[in-house]
Amino acid sequence: MTNYEELHKLKDEMEKDDSLPLKKDANKLVFGSGNTEAKILLIGEGPGRTESIQGLPFVGQAGKLLDKLLELAGLERKKVFITNIVHHRPPENRDPLPNEIESYGKYLDQIIKIIKPKVIITLGRFSMAKFLPDVFISQVHGKKFDITVDDRHVAIIPMYHPAASLRNGKILEAEKADFIKLKDMLQSI
Ligand code: URA
Repeated sequence: MTNYEELHKLKDEMEKDDSLPLKKDANKLVFGSGNTEAKILLIGEGPGRTESIQGLPFVGQAGKLLDKLLELAGLERKKVFITNIVHHRPPENRDPLPNEIESYGKYLDQIIKIIKPKVIITLGRFSMAKFLPDVFISQVHGKKFDITVDDRHVAIIPMYHPAASLRNGKILEAEKADFIKLKDMLQSI
């Protein structure tokens, strides 16, 4: 099976899974989108209102900023795959809870297994914490961490969440600088 076919099968499974804790209050499942053969995987936090309606990740305000940030790194959406730590919208956009992260994590792990990315860019502290527990985003944003995932070397690059940049100009400046630096970093990976 191709990655595309495997991901489709997984999405079908996820759509039928009534045990997913955020399902009943959410609109659509936001499985993820982009290049199913991508070497770069971006992981956000969870769908917002627009994403939940459209069933696609990062299509609202934060998504518009993400597109600009990707451009700074010489990337575009069709080169990467984008998903989230939870795939249904948390009520009122609240933070995902530990049990929710765990429930959706089984599927996220499968997505990572299928795509086999060389680089994972985490957006915000929840996706960062999946790979880099016990660090502070203010200290590690824009840096590269080499870890092993499914017996493969993967570079984890934690970035601020674009929604945080929309709220805070200082974070926005730091995030822009991180994505400009990312361009060179990717060339050396
Ligand atoms: N914020 C996220 O973390 N993910 C999305 O898909 C949209 C906004």
